Amino acid sequence: MELSIKKPFFTPKDLSWHERAKWWKDKGKRVLGYLCSDFPEEIVYAGGILPIRILGSNEAISEAYKYSINPYSCYVTRSILDIALKGELSDFDGLAITTTCDACGLDIYWRMEDQVKGSFPFLYLLPRPSISKTESSHKFFRVELFRFKESLEEFLQEEIPKSSLAHAIKVYNQNRSLLREIYDLRGEGFISGVDAASAVFSSMGNPKDESNLLLSRMIEEAKVREPKSSAAPRIHLSGSVLFNLELFELIEDLGGTVVSDDLCVGSRYFWDPVSTDRDPLEALATRYLDKEPACPCMNTESKVEDRLNFILMMLERYKADAVVFCLHKYCDTHQLDYQILAEELEEREIPFLVHIIEQNIGTAQLRTKLEALFEIINGRG
Ligand code: SF4
Ligand code: SF4
Repeated sequence: MELSIKKPFFTPKDLSWHERAKWWKDKGKRVLGYLCSDFPEEIVYAGGILPIRILGSNEAISEAYKYSINPYSCYVTRSILDIALKGELSDFDGLAITTTCDACGLDIYWRMEDQVKGSFPFLYLLPRPSISKTESSHKFFRVELFRFKESLEEFLQEEIPKSSLAHAIKVYNQNRSLLREIYDLRGEGFISGVDAASAVFSSMGNPKDESNLLLSRMIEEAKVREPKSSAAPRIHLSGSVLFNLELFELIEDLGGTVVSDDLCVGSRYFWDPVSTDRDPLEALATRYLDKEPACPCMNTESKVEDRLNFILMMLERYKADAVVFCLHKYCDTHQLDYQILAEELEEREIPFLVHIIEQNIGTAQLRTKLEALFEIINGRG
């Protein structure tokens, strides 16, 4: 099978939105953008459409402010709207938005509806309950997924059969298991933090079957390499969306390595598989509601405890020395959870730091903070 992408792994810097859409559209296929790790891409993939994650970027905002977007919404939200208003998504056939977070969900949807309407032949708001792990929330979400599938079918003018959904789930689960294997190899020093992160970024924008071939090749190549020493400060990253690999590169430049994360561009995207022994839509509804690590926007009673347990599990599994929270300014949900998570880590004497990001990661200030953290870790021997 000939791979359609230019290089084994692209990072957000390598291809513009136009280029990403173009190489798929040149094959006569459709492209649909989505904004959140909690969006059930499998339904789109089953319809023969390529789902591409729109992450936002750290480029300056020029258009969004003209349309009265709140300057106090997170940069992810402002940037996504700006990208759309600049016409950078003009090759996309559609955009689907989940209501997970009010900022990237509702706010963007209404503004797209109001200001960018007409750019997308298919614009869909997917209501997602903020409660998980209950029978009623699963039922509700399954109905919403069914409605989404119906709308997509209407747009495509063809049915998406159950067998295509089951196949999509299988391909996506394979991608998840390959990414986990890459995380395990990274933990053992066979793969760098930067390369593992670019494998995840790349998976969010490639057709998953092609992505799986690339990931398998990466794993084969990594297994025959000499592993890097694991003595460097080993970092767990916590947060939501990062626009690029700068943070991973900075940590590695300073002699550390990112060995695990609970990022929306990391494990929050792929960690849990979808069950294959039940009705596909029911399985998708359950996975995307109950998955770990949870999105901080969820209101489930045990959410923060579950998030803490996930972080502790990752620290143990990948022998991480410390946690770096990299949170977006004005992202209330992540910052609220952080208060509790920080107390819990402090109680357990696990070193951590918090850094607030906006358009850029604030390299100079973060460098100083990381150097101080690495000194503490190295001092512990
Ligand atoms: S933090 Fe939540 S709403 Fe934001 S991208 Fe991640 S999963 Fe989606
Ligand atoms: S960074 Fe926070 S506020 Fe912004 S879209 Fe993600 S969850 Fe919502």
